[in-house]
Amino acid sequence: MNPLEQRISAVIARIERAAVDVGRDPASVRLLAVSKGQDVDDIREAVRLGVRAFGENHLQDAIGHIEAVPAAEWHFIGRVQSNKTREIALRFAWVQSVDRGRIADRLAAQRPAGMAPLEVCIQVNIDGDPAKGGCAPADVLPLASTVAALPQLRLRGLMTIPALDHDRAGLRAVFDSAHDIYQRCRAAGHPLDTLSMGMSDDLEVAIAAGATMVRVGSALFGPRA
Ligand SMILES: *Cc1c(COP(=O)(O)O)cnc(C)c1O
Repeated sequence: MNPLEQRISAVIARIERAAVDVGRDPASVRLLAVSKGQDVDDIREAVRLGVRAFGENHLQDAIGHIEAVPAAEWHFIGRVQSNKTREIALRFAWVQSVDRGRIADRLAAQRPAGMAPLEVCIQVNIDGDPAKGGCAPADVLPLASTVAALPQLRLRGLMTIPALDHDRAGLRAVFDSAHDIYQRCRAAGHPLDTLSMGMSDDLEVAIAAGATMVRVGSALFGPRA
């Protein structure tokens, strides 16, 4: 096994163990490989090894990766600036970082009619961390209704990124709150299937709290350039 193959196997084993430890089906947790700052050859190799979905948080850097590996499923996970929505709507299958109605409106209007609807997660900023995007928890339900009503968007779920300074208990509290909001959206009639939370250092905590997708960069690819 080459080093990338070993790291991919190790991450998949962590996901499976974390799921089994809390009585969940390992197949209920998807892996999103975060390829920002990584080499195109490693992305191609990851595809060859069975990784299907990749996340990018910076449009300009993502374009080269997407053009090199067009068959992969590309997720935008960074802040969405309004002057970038047209390119994002054209190039990505998913946008996980929708946090205001104006961005949702633009993505819907700019998603070409001939393409499948854009899969959307609402990013929620649970701990009010000013360094991160995301709407306030109280704004999730209204924004979910906005997204659900727009053509060319399909509301799939929620995404969250905790602030950097939490201990394990604090992380768990953030992930539990996100799960709680996710369940409230479902109870309100939104057929969500995606709760995107957990990264290289905390994916076990996120899976214990109900994550259905973990976004893993450095544990898969090694340090970023
Ligand atoms: C970079 C990034 C990740 C992956 O972080 P790692 O710690 O390298 O696993 C996950 N989610 C988002 C939104 C990111 O920007």
